[in-house]
Amino acid sequence: MSGNYGIAIDIGTSGIRAQALDIDSSEVISTTITLRHPFPGANVVDHLHFALKVGIKTTHDLLIEAINKVIRGLNIDTQNVKRVAVCGNPIQLSLFHNIEIRDLAYWGENAIERLKIEIPSRNATITNSKEIGLEVFEDALIFIPPAIRHEIGADALAMLYKTGVLDKEGIYLISDFGTNAEMALVIDGEVFTCSTAAGPAIEGQMIYKGRLASPGAICDLEDNDYEWKSIVLDNDLLITDGDTIDPSTGKIISKSKNNIEAIGITGTGVIAAFSLGIDDEIIVDSKIKTDDKKLHLQDDVYLAEEDIVNIGKSLGAFRAAHLTLAEEADILLDDIDAVYMAGASGFYVDPLKSLNIGQIPPSSREIYQVGNTSLDMAKDITLSPEFLDELQKIADQMRSNHIMLATSKTFEKIYSLELSIYEEGMPFWMYNKWLEKYGFQTMPSKELNPKIHRMFERDISDLGINGLNVVDIGLTLEAKFDGCTRCQTCIKNCPEDAITLEDDGRIILRTDKCAGLGCQKCVLTCPEKVFDYGKFLNLS
Ligand code: SF4
Ligand code: SF4
Repeated sequence: MSGNYGIAIDIGTSGIRAQALDIDSSEVISTTITLRHPFPGANVVDHLHFALKVGIKTTHDLLIEAINKVIRGLNIDTQNVKRVAVCGNPIQLSLFHNIEIRDLAYWGENAIERLKIEIPSRNATITNSKEIGLEVFEDALIFIPPAIRHEIGADALAMLYKTGVLDKEGIYLISDFGTNAEMALVIDGEVFTCSTAAGPAIEGQMIYKGRLASPGAICDLEDNDYEWKSIVLDNDLLITDGDTIDPSTGKIISKSKNNIEAIGITGTGVIAAFSLGIDDEIIVDSKIKTDDKKLHLQDDVYLAEEDIVNIGKSLGAFRAAHLTLAEEADILLDDIDAVYMAGASGFYVDPLKSLNIGQIPPSSREIYQVGNTSLDMAKDITLSPEFLDELQKIADQMRSNHIMLATSKTFEKIYSLELSIYEEGMPFWMYNKWLEKYGFQTMPSKELNPKIHRMFERDISDLGINGLNVVDIGLTLEAKFDGCTRCQTCIKNCPEDAITLEDDGRIILRTDKCAGLGCQKCVLTCPEKVFDYGKFLNLS
């Protein structure tokens, strides 16, 4: 190794991933990931809300503190780090860069004018570590790739560039799976993008037994004649066989010799349970047809009917977004030549189960699982900084159309049909009837034998000679609220154990544990109405 290092960083919505690289040999040295994001919640709406409440500076400092922890976890001499490249969506990269984000929070030119918001340039940028606050060599250069347009970020550019679809004839759908799913439909080089708030359920969050990928989490299921075998993560986060159980009762059919206790279910496990539940007719019209209305998995892990509704609404956001993109681009979903699944969830989920339940179009004939394209693009920039100019040219020349789902009438109509399925139990044939009535295409029939191409062994193709290190973020903000009686109601009602109270009355918030906007139990249950997110400061 030469001792000249570069670092590639992907700031995702649910966590941060980084790789140390030897600049001269292009070798990967080590990889660090976090299992959480430093901001409350796990979607862009939560992150925007948090940043607007506590302020861009506090949010930037928190993000940089988390990234510095991740960099320390790479176990290299940080004073020899000469270059760092980052990739992520416009919100993450703007907060990293410490620039305006309010233009991303308000829709329409009128609101932006009224609030006198100056939209910042999100072109390719080179800055330095001192400017950003990264704890590496003080003159290290920091490379930030361009957004395609102000709402379509560098993460979407990475997905398009790394899959190579921009230069190909044909029709391709690319999705970066996550709580905020970025999607692009590419038709002979012309790009139609959208971003759908799929929500946390399909990432294994905000459901009763859900959890992020960790030892003991069920991450997949195999169906053997109505008997389900759990696939569980072991202590090294590798998959291993769990017990086989009867999903109607939870009765053990056979015990695995691995003797691993299941403690929860990940997003990919949730997709598997939902898919098998439909196949085995345990889930019918969003209801669970068991005596206790639970879908039973190993060791009392289960999905409840409320979970099914939340998962269904997440999947509905995918299906409605696919149909909206196809309608806006004037193609049929059946015309799509290949589907690309990007991101960690898109890599580890069983694509046949995704297809079965609408996470990708049912007619998908060729499916590519491409892994973490954002980290890959950051790696390319770190090793060849001149690539940044090329990316700017690609972004400038791209024929792109962004469909804002929040204001799309097509999406509104289709998503209301999805809600009718999952909240009111509307049967699927009626969904198609309504699509016809609205003048839209109906859902195509299911491809029974799609070709699946898994590009690598894992979502990060090469972990490096020193392997993987998982870093606990563990960052806090603190506040003192005037009028707080120290009654601890907020603490008792916090489902994530994210708040503590110090003897001097300071409330300490573990931002990475907090569930964010979708929860707010602390704010809602405070009897004095003094719990205020806006008062939290970073005093570390
Ligand atoms: S109660 Fe408050 S601090 Fe706890 S998870 Fe919910 S929003 Fe976060
Ligand atoms: S619930 Fe309100 S009054 Fe009670 S400790 Fe929390 S912030 Fe203070």
